Amino acid sequence: MKEWTIRADGGGDRIGGSNYIEKDVCIDYGAIQDNKRISYPPMAREEIPLFILSHDHLDHCGGVPIFAREHPESKILMTQTTYEGMLLQLRDSLKIMSVTAKNRTRRGLNPEQVVFDYRDVERLANRVEFVKNTDWFEPIPGYKMSFRSAGHKPGAVMILMVCPDGTRVIHACDVSLDDQALVKGASVPSDFLEPDIMVVESTYGDREIPDRHKEESKLIKIAKTVFKRGGKVVMPHFGSTMGNVAFPVAKAGLATYIDGMGRDFLSMYQNTKPWCGEDKPFSLKDFPSLSFVNGGSPKGDMLVREELIQQKGPVVIVSTSGMLEGGPSVFYTEELIEDRRNASVVPGYQASGTQGRKMVQLQRGDQISFVHQDKFGEEKTVTKKILADVIQVKLSGHSGGDKMAKWIAQINPKKVVTVHGEPSSHEGLKERTHRLSKNISFFSAKNGQTLEFAF
Ligand SMILES: [Zn+2]
Ligand SMILES: [Zn+2]
Repeated sequence: MKEWTIRADGGGDRIGGSNYIEKDVCIDYGAIQDNKRISYPPMAREEIPLFILSHDHLDHCGGVPIFAREHPESKILMTQTTYEGMLLQLRDSLKIMSVTAKNRTRRGLNPEQVVFDYRDVERLANRVEFVKNTDWFEPIPGYKMSFRSAGHKPGAVMILMVCPDGTRVIHACDVSLDDQALVKGASVPSDFLEPDIMVVESTYGDREIPDRHKEESKLIKIAKTVFKRGGKVVMPHFGSTMGNVAFPVAKAGLATYIDGMGRDFLSMYQNTKPWCGEDKPFSLKDFPSLSFVNGGSPKGDMLVREELIQQKGPVVIVSTSGMLEGGPSVFYTEELIEDRRNASVVPGYQASGTQGRKMVQLQRGDQISFVHQDKFGEEKTVTKKILADVIQVKLSGHSGGDKMAKWIAQINPKKVVTVHGEPSSHEGLKERTHRLSKNISFFSAKNGQTLEFAF
């Protein structure tokens, strides 16, 4: 008899803090971001021979230094792109933690407990082993594995695994089936059909998302309209997927500048060899109208930013953070929002409690206050009137429910465990898949609960 268990300590029936323990293997240890507070899933106390990081989004990688410190016995595996991206994210988190601690001390509050520091990140960096390609290998005794592109972002993997008792498992979280600027959509692993178990994300399990090509055309149309009226477009966006919004407008020949973490991620993609055929190599040379904001130093960067705002001609500026919670995007938005010729194009997903969410809920003519840190690390509030267009564009690294259901039905696992979604999304993905195939049994992972299977 074959046996298999999964426990989602985070990222089961909600998004955030992804952490999946599947027998001897732990996948991801992410941060939970809730109304500006960061926490982490409860730490697994059992011995974990193998830890795999699926990709470098904070909800998957944000707590890996803590996991590595608590689990010196674990072998740690990821692709090189994920490793480089994880280090960018973690070093940025350390910077934010240090500024937050300074501000709390200044206000006479106790500094929050330090969860990890520079040394933890460096120790983790020295322990990581790279997955170099999609070949089958045996990372720990008895487990055969092959990593495939998850299509979600460069470096992101789905894991095919044969356990020592022969149980065949696919772990696919997070996934996109649509081609994106820097990575092709995930394919059906034709050498691994009908596995015993498929663990799969359900982010949009109960919804469809707009067609990617239509959204890209919408984006180009908005930018061209703004250029015609002599305005500027500011696009707050997430660092690791900035290419999704920057490349379509740059390809259309519109002058585009990249700033913040997006600049760091794109430089990293330029310098890191893709680990598989699905990741597309990136070179700035292929985009003559694309430039990085690069003043050579933080002070120099600030001067370039001010020049961009002052310059007469139209321009597209893409910068982190995507939800206007810090980073240069707050500066650009403050400077450009009071001019009717301009537009702010924000990502479709804006978490509750963020300044980005506040802005998309307000009307033209309303006032908005941005709270951010100035160059000395002091908190500053700036109130502006919204006169520019505020538009949301939905270019996601996930796929809608119907596409995901079709993909699952093609792979045709015996059992599916849904993770990474609200309960309604788990239910939606199950219903959609059952319209195509009634033989697949569905189980929904709930945080902290162990699911046990015997075959
Ligand atoms: Zn992700
Ligand atoms: Zn995720």
